[in-house]
Amino acid sequence: MIIVLKPKTTKAQINHIVKKIAGFKLRAQVSKGKERTIIAVIGDERVLSTVPVEAFPGVEKVMTVLKPYKLASKDFRKETSVINLGLGVKIGGNNIAMIAGPCSVESREQLLATAKAVKAAGANVLRGGAFKPRTSPYAFQGMAEEGLKILAEAREMYKMPVVTEVLDTRHVELVNKYADCFQIGARNMQNFELLKEVGKMNKPVLLKRGLMSTVKEWLMSAEYILANGNMNVILCERGIRTFETETRNTLDLSAIPLVKTLSHLPVVSDPSHGTGKKPLIYPMALASVAAGADGVLIEVHPKPETALSDGDQSLLPVEYKKLVDDARKVAKAIGRTL
Ligand code: PEP
Ligand code: MN
Repeated sequence: MIIVLKPKTTKAQINHIVKKIAGFKLRAQVSKGKERTIIAVIGDERVLSTVPVEAFPGVEKVMTVLKPYKLASKDFRKETSVINLGLGVKIGGNNIAMIAGPCSVESREQLLATAKAVKAAGANVLRGGAFKPRTSPYAFQGMAEEGLKILAEAREMYKMPVVTEVLDTRHVELVNKYADCFQIGARNMQNFELLKEVGKMNKPVLLKRGLMSTVKEWLMSAEYILANGNMNVILCERGIRTFETETRNTLDLSAIPLVKTLSHLPVVSDPSHGTGKKPLIYPMALASVAAGADGVLIEVHPKPETALSDGDQSLLPVEYKKLVDDARKVAKAIGRTL
């Protein structure tokens, strides 16, 4: 249930409604929009069936959200949510975020060199995995806490917020200590216990779309994070598995504008994992901006041939610079900044 408040509802009236709802053992999530404040009621709202909620002071109307995702839905908030990553970076506004870095943190030297290069090329968020979800147990699994420390050092040096994957509920506190944004990887999109744990934090979460997930399932996963109290969710389209084998995944570009009709959450695109093919990354990055993405995530490595993961799809800094320069032109053409 969504309670839409009258334009001039007072703080005291809002608190009164929240208290009333809590009295029925339901949670009230207040969202202050530009024009309206609305309250989402979370829990088994059947207990309110005989309660005249519309008569509470300050209430304009009560709406039932038919979609299975409620807090993630556009009914809950009309404008795109703006998620603050810190260090002046916000995702979801007019500006398009450029997230870049290696697939894995491999050494201090490699990460600092990449951070310096992507910053110079125009990136404003640094990425890099310290916990890696690998198909083979014999493949490089990441540098764990040592990698997180290197990421934090790069953040201080280059003043870029850091996004890094959290693979397991046991690592949420640890990753929280070093990162500015949690990444939930495609393979963990439906790890509901992990979603609940990051939902209890108040740090932004970049939620990748699962390899075989529908848009509805993806939004339901976002709902897990939101329903646990963390409203700072950024969606990331990273390609899905289809019958096509010429690419690593099929980047579902249409999901970007689609999600924008269904949800207020910002959505970024990851053409690196979305295609897995170097020559396709530049055109798909530009197409993502044209399709309305709020950010673009690209894997960059100073020596892709030596990368311990995803070297085949990693761009050189110089290639990344061209991508940023040209994506900026596309952004300008559609009235956005980058
Ligand atoms: C990554 O970002 O390096 C990664 C493993 O992504 P995904 O979960 O989309 O495969
Ligand atoms: Mn990768």
